[in-house]
Amino acid sequence: MKLTRKQILTVGPVLLVATCYAIAAPSRSQSSQAAVSIIDDAATEDRDPQEPLTVRCAAAAKSLQDRLVANWKFIVREPFVLGGDLTEKELDASYQQTIAPTVRALAVSYFSNPPRHPTIILLCSSDERFRECNVQLDDQDRSQYSGLYSRKHRRVVVNVASGEGTLAHELTHALAHADFPAMPEWFDEGLASLHEECEFSLDGLHLIGNDNWRNEVAQDALTRGELRLLEDITSKRFGSRDRAHVDYAHVRSMCLYLQERGLLEPFYRTCRANAANDPTGLRSLCQVADVTDPKAFDDAFHAWLITHQTATP
Ligand SMILES: [Zn+2]
Repeated sequence: MKLTRKQILTVGPVLLVATCYAIAAPSRSQSSQAAVSIIDDAATEDRDPQEPLTVRCAAAAKSLQDRLVANWKFIVREPFVLGGDLTEKELDASYQQTIAPTVRALAVSYFSNPPRHPTIILLCSSDERFRECNVQLDDQDRSQYSGLYSRKHRRVVVNVASGEGTLAHELTHALAHADFPAMPEWFDEGLASLHEECEFSLDGLHLIGNDNWRNEVAQDALTRGELRLLEDITSKRFGSRDRAHVDYAHVRSMCLYLQERGLLEPFYRTCRANAANDPTGLRSLCQVADVTDPKAFDDAFHAWLITHQTATP
């Protein structure tokens, strides 16, 4: 099935808007510290990277087929290997209607380098299938999440019952990993969280992040004086268990703020270009926002956040 422009504009937003994304996305440390899955390693890491991508994708699909329960289906759409407890037709529909348009739009705005390795996307139809899948892959329950991206395995696992926003979040991580492996964690999570609730631009070429429930979390934290300073959240531990929901809300709101000012795409490119000398992205952010220091950025961002009216879908 080929998407027409009209379908992209009308179906895309509906597919991508999360309706019940209620579980905090995992931090990178939580998703990448998964116990080693030997078979999955063999599929994605140990094969000769000089082998054609087609061959490596087919091998990854075969390995997962052997690893997961027998009735799971797999299709290859290079560089992606899609699998799930869905029919092949449903997997293909997810690729055509959600994954491919999202990948195209994010490539226009951000990602210059598409994945060069098989990138696995596993779609689970329910909480129970999601839990089973994670147990089979690496003996971890993971039921506290609705989606995961493992950098080590280049693997997305999503509970599609949680809404399409989860897939958009984790897919952004996978694409960012290929394009900008050293992307600071706070920005990686901010950009991924932005796409939990998004729609295509009128020309169909860009994804625009919309308001979601995280706005209110960030506003409440600011009102209580609990929002971290920019310098702190960019340079110190992100997303610790006791304050993950505030940190995620904080960085998503910052991305929304940058997007509204037309600075999000320039910041991504500047952050990537300066990564060696500015690994946290702090100086790049001040440069793009044209402020003299992080405090000036905080002042402007806080003034925007406290007056920002969350649009209801
Ligand atoms: Zn995430």
